[in-house]
Amino acid sequence: MRTHEPDAVAGRGTSIEYADMLLLRFGEFTLKGKNRARFEKTVLRHVKEMIKPYPRAVLGKEFGRIYVQLNGEPAAELAGALKNVFGIASISPVKVSQSTLEDIISVSRRLLEILSPAEGSTFKVNVRRVWKEFPHGSIEMNKLVSTPLLQGYPGLTVDMRSPQLELKIEIRHDHTYIFCENIAGVGGFPLGTNGKAMLLLSGGIDSPVAGWSSMRRGLEVECVHFYSYPYTSELARQKVVDLARVLSRYAGVIKLHLVPFTEVQTSFTGLGQDNLMITLMRRAMLKIAARLAEREGALALVTGESLGQVASQTLPSMNVIGRATQLPLLRPLVMMDKSDIVELSKKIGSYELSILPYEDCCTLFVPKSPTTNPNLRIVDKIEATLPGYEDLLAAAVDRTETVQITPYGGEKPADLVPAEAGIKEEWF
Ligand code: ATP
Ligand code: MG
Repeated sequence: MRTHEPDAVAGRGTSIEYADMLLLRFGEFTLKGKNRARFEKTVLRHVKEMIKPYPRAVLGKEFGRIYVQLNGEPAAELAGALKNVFGIASISPVKVSQSTLEDIISVSRRLLEILSPAEGSTFKVNVRRVWKEFPHGSIEMNKLVSTPLLQGYPGLTVDMRSPQLELKIEIRHDHTYIFCENIAGVGGFPLGTNGKAMLLLSGGIDSPVAGWSSMRRGLEVECVHFYSYPYTSELARQKVVDLARVLSRYAGVIKLHLVPFTEVQTSFTGLGQDNLMITLMRRAMLKIAARLAEREGALALVTGESLGQVASQTLPSMNVIGRATQLPLLRPLVMMDKSDIVELSKKIGSYELSILPYEDCCTLFVPKSPTTNPNLRIVDKIEATLPGYEDLLAAAVDRTETVQITPYGGEKPADLVPAEAGIKEEWF
């Protein structure tokens, strides 16, 4: 098998337009019985969602595999989208032939011509006879197919142990599948099979990566963003919508909760505690996000924090900030280097958006010297004595606007997203 690196997790295809079908293999969920069936069903549902824009594509399912018959739909584009489906370990572009010796040889030859292996390449034919009534056995077939192929390609030599090119042939009753390429998928757990979490999505580099990492572990993610209109602009909001859209490529659809944060934020000014401003803001975000999580049935909060990155991400800061909520606080990037996070954000496709220079609500009120070592008792006291603080938090939750984001923006028919009661559908 030739293996393509997942050079970009999203988007880019390879020259695999020869394919009649894509064969999708599940990752090792290391699960048995009922759970495995549930996981496979979830992957299938996700795949269904991803192929909706390709009406001629037809799905088939078998233990451990999904087939996508292309019927003329673009192979590379579909493979590019499907390798992003969590739980898919690999994809092979397949040529389909009749289950006759003549057709198998002729289609194999055509595939070899397309792949045009370099002079001196090593090669092997690997036949699996699933349909036992086929007149030739697997070992015999290896010879029957490889002999004419080698005659046509004198530059090829056979290597049974570790060939550069392994032509796999699966003989079934109705058709025979012929393939030799392997495109790496993202793997992970199928979406939503490990529950739901609320992601605090800022406009930065880190939080979209934290969201993607969570989704890859099987978490369904809803996003919550805090904005401070009029201090933050419409462009800043649009940037977050666009980032959520990048995430929706991996989920089909994503809910984004937009929280008006101006009143909460300005309530901290004039306290004479400027160095605690960020600590108080972060805690307020967690408190509001926790209420939204409860409302939406999410069991954890996710942030893009990484240890030591900024003043609010020292261990003492994380300690004091994290105590604002009882919910598990997941920080997928906590031990990662910034350069690795940047690398991942490029692969996911969020980097170019993240570096756009629009202001975040937190950068507006950043004090000269934010504390790296906040005092929990003082913070508790400030919050307890701030007039009307509880009401401010409750009002922010009440005034939160929720939108559904899909990968397709305005171009897609609304029927792709089932409208839920009380949720505004917006096509940005
Ligand atoms: P990012 O690149 O995600 O913005 P950062 O390194 O800039 O991260 P901070 O700005 O300190 O870090 O934010 C830490 C985390 O707090 C973010 O990763 C995000 O989860 C959350 N956060 C910050 N600002 C917002 C916001 N306006 N709305 C929602 N979440 C936010
Ligand atoms: Mg930020």
